[in-house]
Amino acid sequence: EPTELDASRVIVTLTDRTELKTVPSLAELARGRFSQAMTDHMILVSYDPVHGWSAPEIKPYGPLSLMPASASFSYGTNAFEGMKAYMGPDGIPRLFRPEKNMARFVRSAARVALPAFSPIELLKLIRRLVTIETRWVPAAKGHSLYIRPMIIGTQSSLNLSVSDSALLWVMCTPSGPYFRNTRPLSLFAATDAVRAWPGGTGEHKIAINYGPTLTHHQNAQAEGHDMNLWLLGDKITEAGIMNFFVVLRRDDGDLDVLTPLLDGTILPGITRESVLALAAAHPSRIVLPGLSEETRLHPAERVLTMPELETWLAEGRVVEAFAVGTAVVVSPIGRIAWGGKDLVLPQFGDALGPVSKALRERILDIQEGEFEWEDWS
Ligand code: PMP
Repeated sequence: EPTELDASRVIVTLTDRTELKTVPSLAELARGRFSQAMTDHMILVSYDPVHGWSAPEIKPYGPLSLMPASASFSYGTNAFEGMKAYMGPDGIPRLFRPEKNMARFVRSAARVALPAFSPIELLKLIRRLVTIETRWVPAAKGHSLYIRPMIIGTQSSLNLSVSDSALLWVMCTPSGPYFRNTRPLSLFAATDAVRAWPGGTGEHKIAINYGPTLTHHQNAQAEGHDMNLWLLGDKITEAGIMNFFVVLRRDDGDLDVLTPLLDGTILPGITRESVLALAAAHPSRIVLPGLSEETRLHPAERVLTMPELETWLAEGRVVEAFAVGTAVVVSPIGRIAWGGKDLVLPQFGDALGPVSKALRERILDIQEGEFEWEDWS
């Protein structure tokens, strides 16, 4: 019987005191050095078909040793996650809905035929790692410790087959606010490439969805945009590595809060899910900061197209558009370049529109332990 992943078997080897790294200052983090310095420790655990999951290790962060024929290199058998720990007012780091990341991680791994593992046991290990790395969790608003779980196929063989072995690790890096302010994003809608397609892998967090977007991202930036808006024909899918939202004023004065339907081409973002839930809860269960109780929000997942967005803009119905994800939380979208057109969205200077501002503040408050909401933090 191969062994299951078991957090209670963890072997912890701490970095020698004299070898501990210097934690970057808030000023250094503000300079945007995202993902440069990893913390002192990582989780490492391996799988093979005979023994199953090894005893997990928490040990000094350092290089891996891999066979050049490891399946992951040739066939992209790997999956990852992105989540954060936030410092609470009590000096205890918190995770935001981490069981959602764990569930997505298991699903992504399965999509590239990597072995299953207990999401609960992995979460226990991550809690332990974050506790050890507490000094790395920045205690400032909008700051966090970014956590990157990763699993790769390590079968040493060039045969295209299911990798019978795997390596799973978790590394962390402190991060300042991803975008230093809430300057509206300029998006370039790619019309010569798609990020994902029906029946493809877009809804999974696997490396093959990311590498092929980089030249487009670079070109968009060279043209003065922040990132791509990914379309499928006329359909809006995602904004860079964030989920897309648009707020529309309805005839009855209420607001529609719309995001593309999960049709397999869109990563089911945890921030997206949280925004939909908070919008649904206002005002009966929660009053979002800055929004009146008279403002009724109608969150919905539906097909959204560029021609529709153009029409809504011409009709003056668009209140705002924004993008959401773990890295940015909520970021305003100021314009979209699309097939020679320049769609200008409602602007609020360097600030967010009313709905995105309310959502951002509430989510940050929950993440940072200033506001308790269900079991989210
Ligand atoms: N879309 C893509 C393609 C992403 O990589 C991410 C980041 N995981 C998101 C959306 C946002 O998801 P989340 O809110 O879970 O970070």
